Amino acid sequence: MTYVVTDACIRCKYMDCVEVCPVDCFYEGENMLVINPNECIDCGVCEPECPAEAILPDTENGLEKWLELNTTFSAQWPNITTKGAVPDDADAHKGEEGKYDKYFSAEGGSGD
Ligand code: SF4
Ligand code: SF4
Repeated sequence: MTYVVTDACIRCKYMDCVEVCPVDCFYEGENMLVINPNECIDCGVCEPECPAEAILPDTENGLEKWLELNTTFSAQWPNITTKGAVPDDADAHKGEEGKYDKYFSAEGGSGD
């Protein structure tokens, strides 16, 4: 198994998760983060840290799309290990429905 980041992260990007991951397996896109499923050790410490509740274990039903997205883009985007600037409008997008269709970007972030 692994943990995955869902579209609840899109445009929230609080990055509390990267600070606690013991194996630094988060990767940064333009407006969301993903987890590398091959590096994640399933410790679960990131899940309760996410203010957007965007991180879930892939043992939950219906997460295949997000597992695939995490796998694909963690291989393309830069690694991120420390919390950067949170978007000014992050709170406005917290809990918004349908963020993947509205805002997903395949562009990488800047990483660190
Ligand atoms: S804490 Fe949650 S919303 Fe913030 S970057 Fe991590 S997964 Fe995304
Ligand atoms: S479950 Fe643990 S290893 Fe996996 S991404 Fe979260 S903090 Fe990192």
